[in-house]
Amino acid sequence: MRRLKHSGIYWCLNCNVPLLDSECEICRVKGEFVPLSRPVDPKPAFRFDLNLLHQTISQEFGVDAANFLLKNVEVAVFNRVPYLDKGYEVLVDGRILGHLFFDFPRLYWRFKPLREGCSRLWVKKLGFWVVVNNGFVIKNQILGELDFVAKNLPEREGEYVFLVSKKDEVLGVGELTDKGKVYVLRVWKPEQPRFLNFKASWNQVVKANFSKLKTDISKACKFVGDISSRLKLPVFVSYSGGKDSLTTLYLTVKASCKTKILFNDTGLELPETLENADWVASKFGVEILKVKAEEAFWIHLKDFGPPTRENRWCSKVCKLKPTAKFLDEKIGENKILCFVGQRKTESFRRAGSRKIWVNKFLPKIVASSPINDWSMLQVWLCLMMERLDGYVNKLYFEGFDRIGCFMCPSMEMADLLVVKKRYPILWERWEKELENWILNKNLPRQWIDYGLWRWKNPPKRILDKIGG
Ligand SMILES: [Zn+2]
Repeated sequence: MRRLKHSGIYWCLNCNVPLLDSECEICRVKGEFVPLSRPVDPKPAFRFDLNLLHQTISQEFGVDAANFLLKNVEVAVFNRVPYLDKGYEVLVDGRILGHLFFDFPRLYWRFKPLREGCSRLWVKKLGFWVVVNNGFVIKNQILGELDFVAKNLPEREGEYVFLVSKKDEVLGVGELTDKGKVYVLRVWKPEQPRFLNFKASWNQVVKANFSKLKTDISKACKFVGDISSRLKLPVFVSYSGGKDSLTTLYLTVKASCKTKILFNDTGLELPETLENADWVASKFGVEILKVKAEEAFWIHLKDFGPPTRENRWCSKVCKLKPTAKFLDEKIGENKILCFVGQRKTESFRRAGSRKIWVNKFLPKIVASSPINDWSMLQVWLCLMMERLDGYVNKLYFEGFDRIGCFMCPSMEMADLLVVKKRYPILWERWEKELENWILNKNLPRQWIDYGLWRWKNPPKRILDKIGG
């Protein structure tokens, strides 16, 4: 039970900000606990994310609904939830407004309002709703004409409809079926909507968590300093162009550790990432050593076929092999200490985290992560507090959550389609290879269009959805 209690985040209702600990450092009041889906690893919703949310709600329920739901929202938090593709819980005013998710197989963004979202919409009778005869509804129930006292139903099947009692209580949410009925997806204990009605800012979020952040930064720096003086090995920071490795680099430099950057150019990096690595190195005044895989991926692709979630041969070819070769040439027999920005997410955090380890495939690397216990929110708040926003890879502010190879099999369709749109030339090269592969293997076009290449054996739930 103790573990479950911790699956969430605190929110200060006075200051309207998320908290890393239970108490707000601005008003010194204990925040309200908001349970979140596991693994809990929330991130700030950036301008791009808020725009996507607004646009999606507008398409779903109209622009008035979007304006009303997001009234005064400046500080919002997204937490990943399992969907067939990318999905987030959206937190505003310390409540879960609903789920923003990329619909598979429709391949566009949608918004499913939950208790707070539906209760808000009902205040102005926005969106789609039915008032039901009965005082209660049950999950998986199918409601028809005879159950409705009043209604405002959508035209298209699959659209969300919330369910209201005759006493004005919002009871749950369902979706319109092809037969004009409403299938009940979720029910809950009714609750009045909450509008905190004042805008917070990310500056205030930093203030509300200030000492906690400062303390954790000093602890991490001390950790870096202790290990490096104990091991007396040449120090590197493994930099990927992502926020976690940026934070790690910052902490290592702040700990006055003499370090170099090790950057693994897989040959599949996005241009922003390559630029970012050079920019960050020059700004920090740290030498950058590049391990380049060059064309290795494309050469092996001909034989191995696209890498899958089950078989990531690309990792060996583009990361491990070139790094091993690099170490042999440059480091010789010695070992190096390499700080990496690896984080265990909440659900795994307590399972005993190793703080120093030897890389199984690269025994010359003694690896360590100073931010192992940090949440994504903490990393972002640290970067904001230390004014490192300008060093962050731009891609994060354009909807990317993770920085890596441009067509990693672990990516969701939502992200792959963004890459396809933003980098048509890069994508064309990849799609040509996929086309050759399906031609040779006699696979259907769906294999490309729905990203089935990402699995050796695509999950049944995915295949069921596309009738494959
Ligand atoms: Zn407060």
